[in-house]
Amino acid sequence: MEKQGNIRISSENMMPIIKKWLYSDKDIFLREIVANASDAITKLKKLCDMGEASADEYKITVTTDEKAGTLIVEDNGIGMTAEEVETYITQIAFSGAADFLDKYEKAGGDGIIGHFGLGFYSAYMVSDNIEIFTKSYREGAEGVHWSSDGNSTYTIGGCEKETRGTKIVMHISDREKEFLKESVIRGLLNKYCAFMPYEIYLNSKEGAENKPVNTTVPLYLKQPKECTDEEYQTFYRETFSDFNEPLFWIHLNMEYPFRLKGILYFPKVRKQVELERGQVKLYCNQVFIADNIKEVIPEFLMLLNGVIDCPDIPLNVSRSFLQNDSQVQKIAKHITKKVADKLTNLYKKDNEKYEKCWNDISTFVKFGCIKDDEFYKKVKDIIVFKNLSGKLVPVESVYGDEVSEDDAKNGKEPKAVYYVSDENKQAQYVKMFRDAGLDALVCDNYIDPHFISYLEYKNPTRVRFLRIDADIAIALKEEGGEDTAILDLFQTELKEKKVTVKTEKLKDVSVPAIVNIPEFMRRMSEMNRYYQMNETFSDVTLIVNTANPAVNALKEAKEEDRKLAIMQIYYHALSAYRPLTPEESAELTEDTAKILEKFLKNS
Ligand code: ADP
Repeated sequence: MEKQGNIRISSENMMPIIKKWLYSDKDIFLREIVANASDAITKLKKLCDMGEASADEYKITVTTDEKAGTLIVEDNGIGMTAEEVETYITQIAFSGAADFLDKYEKAGGDGIIGHFGLGFYSAYMVSDNIEIFTKSYREGAEGVHWSSDGNSTYTIGGCEKETRGTKIVMHISDREKEFLKESVIRGLLNKYCAFMPYEIYLNSKEGAENKPVNTTVPLYLKQPKECTDEEYQTFYRETFSDFNEPLFWIHLNMEYPFRLKGILYFPKVRKQVELERGQVKLYCNQVFIADNIKEVIPEFLMLLNGVIDCPDIPLNVSRSFLQNDSQVQKIAKHITKKVADKLTNLYKKDNEKYEKCWNDISTFVKFGCIKDDEFYKKVKDIIVFKNLSGKLVPVESVYGDEVSEDDAKNGKEPKAVYYVSDENKQAQYVKMFRDAGLDALVCDNYIDPHFISYLEYKNPTRVRFLRIDADIAIALKEEGGEDTAILDLFQTELKEKKVTVKTEKLKDVSVPAIVNIPEFMRRMSEMNRYYQMNETFSDVTLIVNTANPAVNALKEAKEEDRKLAIMQIYYHALSAYRPLTPEESAELTEDTAKILEKFLKNS
């Protein structure tokens, strides 16, 4: 006999609100229904383990029927008696949804991670009516049929059901017909249910499939020592559809003080231009929650690809709660520590591989340092830069000793470390450095300008970074190079140009002059460019080499020739530092032609 009932809590108003709020995420209903099916099986399994029930195989079947307009999820789990349906569905599921809405509202509409908590009721986002056919595992249990449109009334009665378990029949509303398509449902099962613990079969009109859509024991649940490299690689390919091999991976496996399992992969960097977003998928007991939840996973780790399963994260709370939750913070810290440990281990135990991977991981490591002080502390010893001979050197090893406060008061500066930001553009300076037996670090990653500022900020008394063209390195010059006569000549000739002239005696006599630009000025102008403020051209300093024979010959030269020569020296030095403007190039070409003419006439 069928019985009608009123749903006690006021659900008339719930549906429009749920539909409006969750519109963008409504496909989570399938996860909720399949997760319920999975829970029902787990409960039965526990009873079997205790000898209170018996069952042979466990499975979940999802069936789409476009013609009938139904989507059906069926399990052979614990099932429900009529009383249980009344309690768990009519009361708990509905009041659970009301509870959830309340929290949702408080969280400002989009605050709840993964929308967990909405449960059974969420299926009403896509259904006009839902029927439940269920039969409890208990001996002599009868089939129960329940049906409701999700508003205020429901019917419940008996039905013929041969097998134990629950069948949820969703009558999909006309607007949501896409949820009847097999391909759509397959996509959702792949997204949300790929690692659920019981086999899930997808059936459609075309017929039943005999291969489950999910992997019931995903690799991350296994013990690291039981997994082979090939398994890790296959898991990576299948989970992230990336056919590049990952560089290496970290298998997280922790039981105490919280449960955390997962695998983080370091992908190969495809292009250096932009920070490439990875994908870190968060799971809770093998049920997919969401991608890249920044409250749980430190931002810089999202450059990696990975899966993390953490049953201890409270999920039906708002994001702002998660941000301040100490448990969640511990989890994030733990993951960061593991990543740092793995990198350190690789550096120490397999340095060759570390060096090979460095190019691909350096952006990640540097970004991680800037974003997370703790991470920096753990990896600072293993940050390396290429030097002028192409060797990777730990950056810590090039810092100087600490400059004490007293010494600093007396003008002592932290050690100057020179760097090259573009080996081609700065080739002339690189050559002079090499010839003088000096070294410099190659900092040509696009994150490096920020990163070296960060290193200076962290080690203010030990290092300051100077670009190789920033300041004449002490070791490149000799004492007593000033020459006022030459200085005068250049200053007069270049008074129209934005340039400061200095005279020095360089060890490399072959170079007539080089251009320097004060480090801080260049950084300022780079910053302006970065923030798209007005471009400020930084002042340059022309260092004229009084050890160079041509420079010395200027003193005796005819005025006309001298003029030409000084402009040549200036433009050549300038072009080693930056591209000449069209006007400058034209002037240089003209002057060069004049010089050649004179030279050839005299030959
Ligand atoms: P939650 O799963 O968060 O408890 P739901 O609204 O999803 O909330 O479900 C309410 C209750 O209904 C569940 O706790 C469970 O007892 C019962 N239930 C739902 N689906 C099934 C099912 N497939 N088999 C057995 N019991 C179920």
